[in-house]
Amino acid sequence: MQYQSTRGSAAALDFEGATLAGLASDGGLYLPERWPTFTADAFAAMRGLSYVETAVRVIGPFVGDALSEAELRDLCTQAYARFDHEAVTPLKQLDHRHWLLELFHGPTLAFKDVALQLLGLLFETFLSRRDTHITIVGATSGDTGSAAIDAVAGRAKIDIFMLHPVGRVSEVQRKQMTTVLAPNVYNIAVEGSFDDAQALVKRMFNDADFAARYDLSAVNSINWARLVAQVVYYVYVGVRLGAPERSVAFAVPTGNFGDVFAGYVAAQMGLPIERLIVATNVNDILHRALSSGDYSQGTVTPTATPSMDIQVSSNFERLLFDLGGRNGGALAEQMRGFEATKAMRLTNAQREGAARLFGSARIDEMDMNRAMRWAYDAAGEIIDPHSAVGLAAALAADIDPSVPVVTLATAHPAKFRDAVERATGVRPTLPSRTGDLFGREERYVTLPATFEAVTSYIAEHATPRT
Ligand SMILES: *Cc1c(COP(=O)(O)O)cnc(C)c1O
Repeated sequence: MQYQSTRGSAAALDFEGATLAGLASDGGLYLPERWPTFTADAFAAMRGLSYVETAVRVIGPFVGDALSEAELRDLCTQAYARFDHEAVTPLKQLDHRHWLLELFHGPTLAFKDVALQLLGLLFETFLSRRDTHITIVGATSGDTGSAAIDAVAGRAKIDIFMLHPVGRVSEVQRKQMTTVLAPNVYNIAVEGSFDDAQALVKRMFNDADFAARYDLSAVNSINWARLVAQVVYYVYVGVRLGAPERSVAFAVPTGNFGDVFAGYVAAQMGLPIERLIVATNVNDILHRALSSGDYSQGTVTPTATPSMDIQVSSNFERLLFDLGGRNGGALAEQMRGFEATKAMRLTNAQREGAARLFGSARIDEMDMNRAMRWAYDAAGEIIDPHSAVGLAAALAADIDPSVPVVTLATAHPAKFRDAVERATGVRPTLPSRTGDLFGREERYVTLPATFEAVTSYIAEHATPRT
C-alpha cells in the first residue's frame, strides 16, 4: 500500500515511510492511495473475533508489505495487553438505543492509548530495521503527552521531549507525564499557554536544519498510523451491534478530527454507518464548517473539555482532500488561502460529500453537564466531560430510532474528576492500574516560552544525527 500527500507534491511512501515521516514534506498529510474494502461476508466473519484479531484484519490491508501478518499480530498483542479489559474497548448499554464505547482502558486513561501504544511499537520496529534514531517533539494539553510518553518510555532509538503549558494541565495529567523517569523522557513545562507551546514545536519542525539534525518526528494525530489503529474499534463494535446487516451511528467528541476521521475510514471500507455525529464544545469551527460550510478560525475559549479546545483541526484536511476528488494541487491552494486569512469556504463537492455521512452539534457547558447527569440517572454511569459532549450530541441527534447510537467515551472520569464532581456530585476514583501516581517522584524542567530556551535544552539532551 502506497500513501499520497494531501497537497500533491511529496513523493508517495509505503506504510513504514508514512509512519516515520508523520507530516509530508509538502506540508500535507498522508492518505492511502485507495481505500481497502471488506465484503459483507468478511464483516460477518469478524463478529466472533477478539480485539487483537479484529485489529490484524482491519490494519493488515493498510500495512501492505511493511509487516508480515505474524509481526502485526505480535505488535497488536503487545500493544493491547496493557489494557485492563479483556475486550480492550468494551461497550456498555445506556438505554434501549444509546451505547457507550469505553476507549479509556489503557495505561493513561484516555483513548489516545489505543493508537499510541501501537505507534510506539511500530516506531521501534521500523527504527531498528533502519538503524536510525528519532527525536519526538510535541506539545500537549494533557492526554496526548501522557499517552505518548507511556508508549515510548525506555524504547531504544527514541528520545521524547514533551512541552506542556505550566499550570494548565490537570494534576493527574501532569503526574502521568512527569513521574515517568525513563532516561529518554524529557518533560518541559513552558511558561505560556498551550498555543505558545504548539507554536514553538511548529517552529522547530519548520527549522529545516534543526529538524534534520535531530530527526524530529511527530506523534500527534497527523500521523497516519494513529488513525488506522482507531478504525479498529468502529469495526469491532459495528459488527457486534449487527453490521453488515444493520447500520450503526456514532457520536464522537471531536477536537483535531482524528478519531471521527477513523470512523469515516471505516465507512469507506464498507462498514454500514448511518451517521457520524461530530460533537464539539463551544470551540465550534467544525460544527460551523459541517453545518454551513464556514471554516473560519476563532479564538480558543478554555472549557472543561481541554482536549477539544481547538480552533484548527488538522485532520479535517484529509476529509476535504478525499471529498474534493483527491486533487492535491487544488487542496494545497485552498489550505494556503486558509493559512493566510484564517478562513475558508468548503466547496459544494466537499459540503455535499460531508453531508452524506456527517452530522454535527455544538454542545455548551449546560448541555454537557445535563448529559453527565443523564448518564448517571438513567444508567448509573459516571462519564467524563468529553464523553458527555459526545453523549449530549447523540441524545439530540435526529436519527431513525431503530439505529443504535454509540457514543465514544474518550477519557476515564477520574482524569477530570473536579468537573465530574461539579456536575454529578460524585467524585470518581482513579483505577488501581494507575497505582501510587500521587506518591511518585516527578521530574521536569520549567522553561520560558522562547525558541532559544527550548531548543537549547533539546540540543543539550537529544542525540544528534551522526
Ligand atoms: C484527544 C481527545 C479528544 C479529541 O479527539 P480528536 O481525535 O482530536 O478529535 C476527545 N476527548 C479526549 C478525552 C481526548 O483526549
